[in-house]
Amino acid sequence: MSESLTTVAYLGATILFILSLGGLSNPETARRGNLYGMIGMAIAVFATVFGTHVTTAGIPWIIGAMVVGGAIGLYAARTVQMTQMPELVALMHSLVGLAATLVGYASYVDPAASASFSGAEKAIHEVEIYVGVLIGAVTFSGSIIAFGKLSGRIGGKPLLLPGRHFLNLAALLIVIYFGRQFLHAETVGAGMTPLIVMTVIALLFGIHMVMAIGGADMPVVVSMLNSYSGWAAAATGFMLSNDLLIVTGALVGSSGAILSYIMCRAMNRNFISVIAGGFGTEGGKPAPAGGAAQPAGEVSPVTAAETSELLREAKNVIIVPGYGMAVAQAQHTVYEITKFLREKGVNVRFGIHPVAGRMPGHMNVLLAEAKVPYDIVQEMDELNDDFGDTDVAMVIGANDIVNPAAQEDPSSPIAGMPVLEVWKAKTSIVMKRSMASGYAGVDNPLFYKENNRMLFGDAKKMLDEVLVSLKAA
Ligand code: NDP
Repeated sequence: MSESLTTVAYLGATILFILSLGGLSNPETARRGNLYGMIGMAIAVFATVFGTHVTTAGIPWIIGAMVVGGAIGLYAARTVQMTQMPELVALMHSLVGLAATLVGYASYVDPAASASFSGAEKAIHEVEIYVGVLIGAVTFSGSIIAFGKLSGRIGGKPLLLPGRHFLNLAALLIVIYFGRQFLHAETVGAGMTPLIVMTVIALLFGIHMVMAIGGADMPVVVSMLNSYSGWAAAATGFMLSNDLLIVTGALVGSSGAILSYIMCRAMNRNFISVIAGGFGTEGGKPAPAGGAAQPAGEVSPVTAAETSELLREAKNVIIVPGYGMAVAQAQHTVYEITKFLREKGVNVRFGIHPVAGRMPGHMNVLLAEAKVPYDIVQEMDELNDDFGDTDVAMVIGANDIVNPAAQEDPSSPIAGMPVLEVWKAKTSIVMKRSMASGYAGVDNPLFYKENNRMLFGDAKKMLDEVLVSLKAA
């Protein structure tokens, strides 16, 4: 494939990636957006493998690696549960970071690359390597810790080392010092020591940064690591002089940064302190580990039959889904109930909190899968003022996102986080299996409010029972 044809293919792939991102911004066009992305990626891979930078001898190696990688990816995609998606995404980010780090080392020791650069060009190439390895290593170790936290292998409690900001600053200064050593190294052998020292520090920094983050702030970390993985890919593009990788990395990096900003606003956190890392623990006591907040008060349990009665008598209903709906895979039954109530003239809407579930857009994906019409699925800001006129607010497996402590208790770890104000409805019904706390590990005063009812049990099982009694009446 000639150089100019490769350039045209890269341009086409870039346009498709931009169209893909545009499509993903709306549930109605998301499917098309995915398709654009897949076609763009196929063109990109084809143009790269058969482009001028790959020798014929290298092609079997690349195809072999693609078959192995593709098989693992296919297996993961087929077997992963919807509830495990966030941790899978975190794991994928770690691979991007690892790739950037390895490419950095490979570019540095590659004799052909070092021979082809001299003077200022050589310095620029080495800066690319140093920065690329730095971002890659932080992304790698940070994503591994995020994977551990999201999958519950590591507790949600923030690890607060004494003088942690000082430690981070010291790490930064050491990285700058060794960067200077690296650029002044006469030989590859001499440059290896500063590069390795910096890599170790970057790996420790990634671990420290994510370990210091409290449970409820994890959504911001996930989107931030998504952004870091984009910048790591862009850095790899610079090291390999691959324009498409630079553009694609920049697209992922900047869209991840925008998503982080949106998540920060949803969590009421400061964007700058997020970028600096080690955030989300100021002003509140750390959440207890293992989601074991102590219940504090009396609750009023209801049965599925009583729930269906409340729903039948309602004119306005808002359903608030959360992580538990994903665990129970209750979205299809939720939609059956919604259809039934709408046919009876009840105004049913869904209230979606930006950090509901375990990844951005988690609830929207589940509701779209169950074919819930998009026009009744509304963002928190769109309907939060409407709870006062709502007869029943039905909370399905959600907890932190409907916790009034965020507004009422300044010492709460989630203080200041905007929440769906379900307690303002005439009656709120919380559907969950026990009194256990949510991801942030804090008790929820909503459960003890006078107008709140608890429907204890697996969300799918309970909703099936609600549907049966709705239809029976
Ligand atoms: P929560 O984690 O606060 O609460 C989920 C609730 O679902 C639990 O209290 C649990 O209670 C209940 N539940 C679990 N399984 C079932 C089941 N089978 N049937 C019924 N209920 C069930 O979830 P929310 O969606 O309210 O809030 C999201 C939290 O996750 C926030 O703290 C957010 O910061 C965090 N987070 C969000 C991310 C994102 O990007 N969206 C990423 C990482 C973290 P019980 O055990 O009693 O059933």
